[in-house]
Amino acid sequence: MTTATAIAELDAKHGILIDGAALGAAATFEVHDPATGQVIAEVADGTVAEATAAVDAAHRAFPGWAATNPRARSEILRRAYDLMIADIDRLAALICAENGKSQADARAEVGYAAEFFRWFAEEAVRTDGAYGISPAGGTRTLVTHKPVGVAALVTPWNFPAAMATRKIAPALAAGCTVVLKPAAETPLTALAIAGILSAAGVPAGVVNMVPTTDAAAVVENWLSDDRVRKVSFTGSTGVGRVLLKQAADRIVNASMELGGNAPFVVTADADVEAAVAGAMVAKFRGGGQACTAANRFYVHASVIDEFVSRLGAEVAALRVGPASDPASQVGPLVNARAAQRVTAAIDAAVADGAVIAAQAEAPAEGWFVAPTLLTGVAPDAAILADEIFGPVAPVVVWEHEDDLLRWVNDTEYGLAAYIYAGRLQDAIRLAESFDAGMVGINRGIVSDPATPFGGMKQSGLGREGAREGLQEFQETQYFSVAFD
Ligand code: NAD
Repeated sequence: MTTATAIAELDAKHGILIDGAALGAAATFEVHDPATGQVIAEVADGTVAEATAAVDAAHRAFPGWAATNPRARSEILRRAYDLMIADIDRLAALICAENGKSQADARAEVGYAAEFFRWFAEEAVRTDGAYGISPAGGTRTLVTHKPVGVAALVTPWNFPAAMATRKIAPALAAGCTVVLKPAAETPLTALAIAGILSAAGVPAGVVNMVPTTDAAAVVENWLSDDRVRKVSFTGSTGVGRVLLKQAADRIVNASMELGGNAPFVVTADADVEAAVAGAMVAKFRGGGQACTAANRFYVHASVIDEFVSRLGAEVAALRVGPASDPASQVGPLVNARAAQRVTAAIDAAVADGAVIAAQAEAPAEGWFVAPTLLTGVAPDAAILADEIFGPVAPVVVWEHEDDLLRWVNDTEYGLAAYIYAGRLQDAIRLAESFDAGMVGINRGIVSDPATPFGGMKQSGLGREGAREGLQEFQETQYFSVAFD
C-alpha cells in the first residue's frame, strides 16, 4: 500500500470520531509532509460543538465500559496490540508522512506504541486492593480502585502513535472512556489507531477524537465540563501550566508529561565508544525532537578529545533526508518554525563562542536542519538552558564533581538524564543526585512501557507506563466496615 492510499483510506475529512461515527466539520485543516512542505491531507477541523458532543458520547459510554469485566477489556487491548503489529507498515508510513522521522525511527515507534496496549492488557486484570484491620480493632478496612471517569487526552506531534497509546491503553484498562485531541501536525496516525481500536472491539463512544486547529478552545471546553474528571497531557511545560490552571477550577485530576532538558554525562573512566553510541541514540533519534533527548553533554576533560573526535565522525556521517528514502537516518524538523528556531539557536551559540566541531549535510529543500556538534560551550551558555528539540549536541567540559552536579541540576526541568561511567556504583551514586525522573545508565534510551515514565520539577506530574500508569486513571476508594 502506498502512503497516498493509506492516507486516502483514512478519510481524514471525516476525521472527527464521536460515538463510533466518523464526522466531517464545517472546515478542514491541512496536514503537511515536513520533508517537502506539501499538503498530504485535509482533516475535519473540530470546534467546541464537536468537543461537547465527544464528551456526551464518552459520558454515555462510561458506565457500560466501567462495568465491562477486566478480562474482556484486557482482551480487547491485547487484540489492539496484535492489530498494530500486523499493521506496522501502514502505521509507519503515516508517521513518516506527517511527522517526517526516518523509516527506522517510525517502525521503532509503532513497536513501542503497540507495547502500551500489550502492557496494559496485562495490567487491566491486576487492579488489586487491600484488606486491613484497623489498629484500634473493631473495624475492617477495604481498599479498592475505580476508574476516574471521562478522561481528556491531549497529545503532541513528536510521537504521534506512542503518545496516544500511552494514554489510551491505561485509560481503557482502568475502565475510563476518553476524548482525545491529537496535535494538528499529526492527526493521521491517531486516526488510524482509533480505527484499530474499533476493529479490536472497543465499543462506540469509549474512544472519541476531535482533531482541531483550535486546541485552546476544545481543551478548555473539556476542562470546564463537569463530566470530565481527568486530563492527561503531553506537551510543552508552557501549555501544561495553562492546563493545570484550568484544571484547578474544578479540581480535575491531572497528569502532565512536559518538557525536558536532559543532561548526558560522561565520566573519566567511561567506555567512550559506548558513550558515543548512546549519545547518537539519545540525541539524534527523531532528529532530537524527543522530550527525553539529550540536550547538553558534560564530558570529563580527560576523555573530551576522544569523545568529540568519535562523536564528530558519527555526526558528520549521518544521512539526512526524507523518510521516503530508506537510507535516511535523520528527517526534517516538524515545521518551518521549528527549523528556524533550531537554526537560530545554533547561530546564537556560535556568536556566543561555541565552535561547530562537526556537521552533517542536509537537503536545502524542506524543513531540514543539519545535525551539528558544538564544542567550546560555556557551562552557562544560553543554548543549555532551553529544550533545543532539534539535532544539535552542545558539549561542555567538566573536571570537578561539585561543578558537574550543580550544572546538571541547574534547570527547571527534571525529565531524563544519562550517565556513562566505568564503575556502576559511581554511575548510581551520581544518578541518585540528579533531579530527573529517569536516568539511563550506560544506555542512551530510557523509554519502556513497563517502567514509570515521567519527570520531576517542571517536567511534569504523575507517571505513564508501569503500574503507576494505570493508577493515574483510577480513584482509590475505601470502605470502613463495622466488625463488632
Ligand atoms: P505543545 O505544548 O505545543 O502541544 C502539545 C499539545 O497541546 C498539542 O496537541 C497542541 O495542539 C495542544 N495545545 C497547544 N496549545 C494549547 C492550549 N493553549 N490549550 C490546550 N491545548 C493546547 O507541544 P508540542 O510542540 O506539540 O510538543 C513538544 C513538547 O512536548 C516538548 O516540550 C516536549 O518536551 C514535550 N513532550 C513531552 C513528553 C513527555 O512525556 N514528558 C513527550 C513528548 C513531548
